[in-house]
Amino acid sequence: IKNIAVLTSGGDAPGMNACIRAVIRTGIYNGINMFGVMQGYQGLINNNIIPMDARSVSNIIHLGGTILKTARCLEFKTEEGLELAYKNLQAHDIDGLVVIGGDGTFTGAKRFGEKFGIRVIGVPGTIDNDLYGSDFTLGYDTAINTVIEAIDKIRDTADSHDRLFFIEVMGRDSGCIALRSAISSGAEAVLLPERETSLNELIAQLETGASTKKTSSIVIVSEGHKDGGAYDVAKKVKERFNHYDTKVTILGHLQRGGSPSSFDRILGSRLGFAAVNELLRGNTMQMVGLRGNEVKTTSIEEALTRHTFKLESDLLEMTKVLSI
Ligand code: ADP
Repeated sequence: IKNIAVLTSGGDAPGMNACIRAVIRTGIYNGINMFGVMQGYQGLINNNIIPMDARSVSNIIHLGGTILKTARCLEFKTEEGLELAYKNLQAHDIDGLVVIGGDGTFTGAKRFGEKFGIRVIGVPGTIDNDLYGSDFTLGYDTAINTVIEAIDKIRDTADSHDRLFFIEVMGRDSGCIALRSAISSGAEAVLLPERETSLNELIAQLETGASTKKTSSIVIVSEGHKDGGAYDVAKKVKERFNHYDTKVTILGHLQRGGSPSSFDRILGSRLGFAAVNELLRGNTMQMVGLRGNEVKTTSIEEALTRHTFKLESDLLEMTKVLSI
């Protein structure tokens, strides 16, 4: 392998820059010519492929977002798009590709790699933590830290006014951000996509809190929760429970930004380093991930098809116990 390119695709996540830096520098350290592809798969199609040296990734480890930009690219889903992308890689003599992204990114990588035999290694980069094969995905830890910082502020005002807040957090179909945020912020309840929580159950919990003199309550609602978002749940609860003034906050895209936590900087560095080493070993179609604090590979096929239930059972149990 002589020439390797790296791209970020799908939703951005803090820690992607740390990973790009590690990929570029690990490649250069091993005598490889390194390239960055701008705007994910769109850059492959548009031939927006730039040579990168060790200095091109200076002073980025602490930055959120991705210096390579990211995009959703529909053209890459077509055969013509895939052909164009391959031609551009061939023109640069690129024989290895590191893709940082989520399941959509890996689906594209799998098709592309299988069609043209180009070597591909995936790095799980998404705040949602919804991929099989890595206990943590890049950006997840930072997103939780961002969420709890916001909730701490909301708690101040909730407490001053004796209010009930419904706070909606990201994660798509994964309740990982919601669960960890709930534990870290001392939320009274959490509604997760993976679990049914009946309205009765939630109201009973809030009633108990009110009768034991809680002055404020915070309910975290996952955006993928089956009974709707924070506004829907708040409306339903309000009809039957009115001990507090009720407010709703949707945290939204601020959860995707910000300076990565030390955990995500280290994770990005580890996975970027590992991704290039896998390519150097001749491996392909693997995702590098963290399992039990060790870097392990999982086939992209498996990462895409295995069902993921990643909520920690002890945390689930704790949500009820610690919020009494
Ligand atoms: P994420 O990687 O965060 O899940 P997306 O689902 O938007 O984000 O996927 C990122 C990109 O991966 C898409 O914009 C598209 O270019 C590519 N992709 C997704 N599915 C396919 C597919 N079936 N074939 C080819 N490319 C795909």
